[in-house]
Amino acid sequence: MSMNKTGRPTSPNSSNSNTSFGSALLQDEGLLYEVGSIDKTGVDLEKLNDTKTRLGDMERTKTTGLVGLSEPETLRHYVRLSQKNYAIDLGLYPLGSCTMKHNPRLNEKLARLPGFADVHPLQPLSTVQGALQLMQELSDWLLQITGMDSVALSPKAGAHGEMCGMMAIRAAIAAKGELQTRKRVLVPESAHGTNPATAAACGFDIDEIPANANGQVDMEVFRSKLGNDVAAIMLTNPNTCGLFEPDIKEIADLVHEYGGYFYCDGANLNAIMGKCKVRDLGVDAMHINLHKTFSTPHGGGGPGAGPTVLSARLSEFAPLPFVRKNDDGKLDMIEHDEQAPNSFGRMCAFHGQMGMFVRALAYMMSHGGDGLQQVSEDAVLNANYLLARLKNHLSPAFEGHCMHEALFDDSFLADTGVTTLDFAKALIDEGYHPMTMYFPLVVHGALLVEPTETESLQSLDEFADTMLELAKSVKSGEVERFTEAPLKAPLRRLDETLAARKPVLRWTQDL
Ligand SMILES: *Cc1c(COP(=O)(O)O)cnc(C)c1O
Repeated sequence: MSMNKTGRPTSPNSSNSNTSFGSALLQDEGLLYEVGSIDKTGVDLEKLNDTKTRLGDMERTKTTGLVGLSEPETLRHYVRLSQKNYAIDLGLYPLGSCTMKHNPRLNEKLARLPGFADVHPLQPLSTVQGALQLMQELSDWLLQITGMDSVALSPKAGAHGEMCGMMAIRAAIAAKGELQTRKRVLVPESAHGTNPATAAACGFDIDEIPANANGQVDMEVFRSKLGNDVAAIMLTNPNTCGLFEPDIKEIADLVHEYGGYFYCDGANLNAIMGKCKVRDLGVDAMHINLHKTFSTPHGGGGPGAGPTVLSARLSEFAPLPFVRKNDDGKLDMIEHDEQAPNSFGRMCAFHGQMGMFVRALAYMMSHGGDGLQQVSEDAVLNANYLLARLKNHLSPAFEGHCMHEALFDDSFLADTGVTTLDFAKALIDEGYHPMTMYFPLVVHGALLVEPTETESLQSLDEFADTMLELAKSVKSGEVERFTEAPLKAPLRRLDETLAARKPVLRWTQDL
């Protein structure tokens, strides 16, 4: 990889490093500090006559070092940066386990209504009754969908919701005086990394359960791990192999028999919503990713929302604050320890992400109960359609139907000299963001594809055609198309390890 004059790596395929750092119509773009300069300004101000400065000794004596750009230059900078993002509004986004679905513009419009967008968390309660009512209606929908007893709206992401559920479980165990003896949390091998991380952060020991040959919990090993020191099991259903755990009820019953709790990772609720109630599966706590199931935007780490539903025996430990309807019909905010003496505390300063609540409720209300059920059916149908179209040319990790995502291993790449990573990079040249790779870990060289219900038959076919064409190309020995990919992106393969280990977070003049 070569360097251009500003020290930025340039793509080897950009033709003339002095004039263009782009490829075709994709412009490479430097930092604001690199494209602007300190001796430039975007505005012309008249020189001031006869005015005395009132700054005294506060007057600046040296330059701020901030660069100047004109308005069109500034606009181009940010528009070019925006074009570096692949987005759900740009094309199909096959990332498995992430549920990248369309965010309806109606929801965006409603979230921007001043009555929701401009409320302040410290406003008098009488002035935010509408916002509180919306939160209560959202809670009603979530409880109706899951059949659970209470819901904490404040967690701000799936992982934060896991934390909420495990803190409630921890508080329940502490209330029984068993905190010293119940230390073990069972986590299947196929779990999202956040599950063991959450259990560890809550002070538990992790005990891994391997998957069986079908990608599901190995029941024999599971039974052998039961004991009175088991605090909980954290299980994802459908699991991250895109499969329904058929023994889930038995797993729940056995954990309960030994005095433990069942935490269900509900990130994949979009596959079963309206088809079964998680309460009937024996769940004690489960987070719901509004930014997955209920189509609110994934926000680059925030703002997300991970409401967590709790069973009757965990409800008293739910975090503050929450909304309660008083006898006079007015909505009240329960936010003090005296009002909820067993609450484990607070997850965040206020209620959580209001904008996400509005978007999620708008999505629910515009679909209705039957529509939400169809969302799950279509999500599962779309994944199975892709699986069916691809299964003879890629290698499905497991036999049979899938739920909301289709999982392949890398055996179709055996002896080709092409890896899962190469295959995914080649997809970039075809205009698609790669699928999830190398996850779940239980499958060798995994490729996990989740189309979601919002893709049309036409876009599924275009994606499947592309995947099939790539698979054919691998088999005909076109190795470099893969090992050199992406060939058409402004930047090609980055040293991601170096970027993660030694990130350059500060721009310096002499970089
Ligand atoms: C997305 C996901 C999470 C984490 O959710 P965040 O909102 O990203 O914190 C947890 N578990 C599973 C199975 C997921 O897919």
